[in-house]
Amino acid sequence: MNIVVVGSVAFDNVETPFGKVENVLGGSATFFSVAASFFAPVSIVAVVGKDFPKADLEFLKSRGIDTEGIEIAEGRTFRWTGRYHEDMNLRDTLDLQLNVFAEFQPKVPASYRDADICFLSTIHPSLQKSVLGQIGKPKLVGADTMTHWIQETRAELVPLLADVEMLTVNDEEAKLLSGERNIVLAARKILAMGPKSLLIKRGEYGVLHFSGDSIFAVPAFPLEQVFDPTGAGDAFAGGLIGHLAKTGDFSIKNVRRAIVYGSVMASFVVEDFSLNRLRKIDDGDVEKRYRQFVALTEF
Ligand code: AMP
Repeated sequence: MNIVVVGSVAFDNVETPFGKVENVLGGSATFFSVAASFFAPVSIVAVVGKDFPKADLEFLKSRGIDTEGIEIAEGRTFRWTGRYHEDMNLRDTLDLQLNVFAEFQPKVPASYRDADICFLSTIHPSLQKSVLGQIGKPKLVGADTMTHWIQETRAELVPLLADVEMLTVNDEEAKLLSGERNIVLAARKILAMGPKSLLIKRGEYGVLHFSGDSIFAVPAFPLEQVFDPTGAGDAFAGGLIGHLAKTGDFSIKNVRRAIVYGSVMASFVVEDFSLNRLRKIDDGDVEKRYRQFVALTEF
């Protein structure tokens, strides 16, 4: 199955307790698509400015990602600046510049319109809605969002959730979206907004999956060093959706396997800044860590 994703393609400035990088490749659609490309064909809908390096587009293409839907517009690429605390589950957004995304009107290429899976990664919900409206009848619609959009665009975000089957948010976003402090109550409230399946990402504490009455938990892969958590959530979604696309099996059992693949991809991303770690691994590394994950949780 093939996947269409809409989301940010960005330049990031990131500071963690281990170092600092400026103007590195980032963005929700970028992390998602590169992670998903290990499993299935992915096409991106996004916009970048004239300042976006050809080499970065070439990198996406080298992963087999279809970039026809990335518009190159007059102006500057989306920019995000974030700083992590000593406790790297916590981060502050210091600056966010939408730039070319402020005026973006997505035009989904004709070749994308029969996509099997549509993933709405973090961006303004009106852009997520516009892309979803241009895709025929996807077999699965997934989405992600962020504190920024929950706070600034709740009125557009909440109605969109009625059309989303699988939502991925982190614990802070789940609490903000639901108004509940308890994570289980938060999950119940969010499921009542529309999604049939909810994944709550909890940084180094792993992921909780809520679906109907079932709850499934997966730990984060224990790493000696987490270098930069940026993109972990998007790479998680990329691995999860990628595995579902590869297998075409949306059964609860396979969704659980997909959650482990998502956790595998997230565990690689955090080992280095930007997409540096994903540039260096291959399918064998992914399978090896998947098996280590199975061994970790089997009893
Ligand atoms: P994550 O760490 O998975 O939550 O995602 C981090 C990525 O999301 C960074 O590479 C940023 O460029 C991008 N990003 C940060 N804030 C936003 C936002 N409000 N909308 C879209 N993308 C964002």
